[in-house]
Amino acid sequence: MGRLIVIGGGAAGMMAAAVAAAGGVETVLVEKNEKLGKKVYITGKGRCNLTNDCDVRDFLKNVVSNEKFLYSALYGFSPQMTIDYFESIGLKTKIERGNRVFPVSDHSSDVNKYLEKAIKWSGAKIMLNTAVKEIVAEDGAVRGVKLSTGEFLQGDAVFVATGGLSYPSTGSDGDGYRFAKEFGHKVTRLLPSLVSVKTKEEWVRQVEGLSLKNVVLSAYSNGKCLYSDLGEMLFTHNGISGPLVLTLSSMLADTISSGNKVDLQIDLKPGLDPAQLDERLLKDFNENINRQFANSLGKLLPSSLIPVIVSLSGIPADKQVNLITKEERSAFAALIKALPISVLRLGCYDEAVITKGGLDVKQINPSTMESKLIGGLYFIGEVLDVDAFTGGFNLQIAWSTAHAAAEAVIEALS
Ligand SMILES: Cc1cc2nc3c(=O)[nH]c(=O)nc-3n(C[C@H](O)[C@H](O)[C@H](O)COP(=O)(O)OP(=O)(O)OC[C@H]3O[C@@H](n4cnc5c(N)ncnc54)[C@H](O)[C@@H]3O)c2cc1C
Repeated sequence: MGRLIVIGGGAAGMMAAAVAAAGGVETVLVEKNEKLGKKVYITGKGRCNLTNDCDVRDFLKNVVSNEKFLYSALYGFSPQMTIDYFESIGLKTKIERGNRVFPVSDHSSDVNKYLEKAIKWSGAKIMLNTAVKEIVAEDGAVRGVKLSTGEFLQGDAVFVATGGLSYPSTGSDGDGYRFAKEFGHKVTRLLPSLVSVKTKEEWVRQVEGLSLKNVVLSAYSNGKCLYSDLGEMLFTHNGISGPLVLTLSSMLADTISSGNKVDLQIDLKPGLDPAQLDERLLKDFNENINRQFANSLGKLLPSSLIPVIVSLSGIPADKQVNLITKEERSAFAALIKALPISVLRLGCYDEAVITKGGLDVKQINPSTMESKLIGGLYFIGEVLDVDAFTGGFNLQIAWSTAHAAAEAVIEALS
């Protein structure tokens, strides 16, 4: 019987250690932090959206990079199987809006607690406060790892479950990419993703904290519409964030980071076509006929946005409503249908939910997660070049790739 070393006690590493050891493989889980699952702890705003209760076909529609690579892992350990697994180790789950799955307790700490219990029950050994410094391989196969303690730990299989670069304070700071490169693995371009967008406009600061519901956010570059969706977004002190923006960041991370000019437009009234909006403006103006322009918009726009829009419209704030011309009104309507914002850059890793890019999946066996270059070396979780939208999909990628690799070592080593 051989020994498995799992590097990293995050989502993927914990699942892999629990499953492999339960399957009879001698397993050592090495985590550099003082405890397991530091990032899992902060997921889903502390509630951990651990998966999305959808079938694999729908799941794959939410994967942004290399969805084909994930077919086998997801069919082998689907969201439903994941829910069943967590229930079997004691974690009660519930399903919320958008099929998002959470612990019934609303505590991400319970996901860690039950995974840790499962690991201990399976007999896997956990080494905390210990970093892997180097993976040792000879003649095209892994032999073990060198630890921060100076010790050499012999292993017949090594799982790299070191995560990406985002939220480095949780321990994921890119070691896995370094290990991979040392063995000739290609690492694709790494970028922060599911992250806020910094804007050139400084007026966003004036509306910091304002959340817009039911707006359409669209992105254009080189005259092409690259993204357009209806939903929710919010303003921050130096840009925009919220669900629509996170999705946009995921789809346009490359375009934005390559220095392309990206212009955004917010349709503040997507339910009204231009003619309907004009009618609505006429009605509002008629009701406020003797007031000043800036004081006539209370029913149409959130109050903190009014001074911003008024200033962008070029119509003097104190202009008498009955003096506003038809041309002014139609230019104002056009502004409401397409409030312009220019992208400065993406937010950084400190605030990015995930890292886009990673281990080139062409060099990884999609059924087992094993390297095609070094025998016994496996890559699981966020370190791979796979990523998805928010909604529990990224953790499911960690669970499924971990499970695939664990099954493979059970077959190979036990
Ligand atoms: C704020 C936030 C909220 C999120 N919310 C959700 C959500 O609700 N749902 C969802 O699906 N996804 C969510 N995600 C994404 C999700 O957390 C990640 O996709 C997932 O944790 C990746 O799992 P992983 O095991 O690959 O990496 P990680 O969970 O990052 O684990 C990597 C582990 O490896 C350890 N490590 C690194 N290098 C070494 C080394 N050399 N030696 C030993 N140990 C090492 C690290 O300390 C760390 O514990 C969120 C992410 C963030 C940042």
